[in-house]
Amino acid sequence: MIFEQLSLGNMKNFCYLFADSQSHEGFVVDPGFDHVKIMEAVKRLKINLTRIIFTHHHFDHINAANPVKAQSGAEIICHRETAPLLHGAASYDRLIDDGYTFKVGGRKVVCIHTPGHAPGAICLLVDDKWLVSGDTLFINDCGRADLDGSDPQKLFDSLQRLKTLPDHLIVCSGHNYGPAATRTLGEEKRLNPTMNARSLEEFCKLP
Ligand SMILES: [Zn+2]
Repeated sequence: MIFEQLSLGNMKNFCYLFADSQSHEGFVVDPGFDHVKIMEAVKRLKINLTRIIFTHHHFDHINAANPVKAQSGAEIICHRETAPLLHGAASYDRLIDDGYTFKVGGRKVVCIHTPGHAPGAICLLVDDKWLVSGDTLFINDCGRADLDGSDPQKLFDSLQRLKTLPDHLIVCSGHNYGPAATRTLGEEKRLNPTMNARSLEEFCKLP
């Protein structure tokens, strides 16, 4: 599979491109900034872009979606709880729920609803190799739970749910906030304090 991690904007955001190596059908996750750079990468990698997916509604994950859609014709996909929070900053074509699955070429992508940082937050399990985690899980940390629409209990539960996924997955988070650009989920389970909190109380006490 073709994989590209793009660092965009001035908030250390990561945007991701995935495509099937054979058919070159692909999708972009979180086009937050700089549609020119995103479309340059799409052309360089010869990706036939069919989907634009938001991990959640925050502006730094959606801002460049409309121009990318205009230039590629890709459909915009988000969780149904994300749609009312976009407030016209980006359009959408398809609303999804937990477990929504699609294929690019022969490769499977599963969307997992992981609320807490934002109500409609999702993670994407890509080809049983990558876990695109948005602002739910960062390398060695997790997203904020004190924003409008955040819920610490739900974020704690979502992180517990992610812990049930296999260790070999490569965590692709929404921001470059950690000691590395990516780590495996096994490493996060071992090293990330937010994944190791044993209770909500302990989770909320973390710095
Ligand atoms: Zn966010």
